[in-house]
Amino acid sequence: MSWLSGYPRENIKWFPTIDTEKCVKCGMCMNCGKGVYKWTEKGPEIVQPYNCVIGCTTCGNLCLGNAVSFPDIQKVREIYKREGIWAKVKKQLEQEGKLQFNK
Ligand code: SF4
Ligand code: SF4
Repeated sequence: MSWLSGYPRENIKWFPTIDTEKCVKCGMCMNCGKGVYKWTEKGPEIVQPYNCVIGCTTCGNLCLGNAVSFPDIQKVREIYKREGIWAKVKKQLEQEGKLQFNK
C-alpha cells in the first residue's frame, strides 16, 4: 500500500475516538467507507480502527455532536520522518508510474 510502503499500519495509532457523552447518534460517521465503524443499539462503535486512513478526519468533520477526535497529527509526521516513510512512498509511486517528474 503506497500510503505506508510496507511500514506496519498497527504501529501508527491513527483512528477516531468517540466521546459517547457528546454523541447525538446522527449517524454521519457511518459515511466512512473503510468499515471503521459499526452501528449498534447504543450508537456507533469503532470496530476496525486500523482500517482508518492515516490523516483522514472526515467523520470528525461531519460529526454533528463534535464527538469524534483524533491523535495529534504531529506525532504521525514524526514517525513518517523517523522511518523515512515519505521517501519510500514516493519511490513506490514512481515505480508504479503514478508520479512522474521531468528530469
Ligand atoms: S477518519 Fe476517515 S477513514 Fe478514518 S474512520 Fe473517519 S472517515 Fe473513516
Ligand atoms: S457522527 Fe458523531 S454524533 Fe453522529 S453518530 Fe457518529 S459519533 Fe455520534
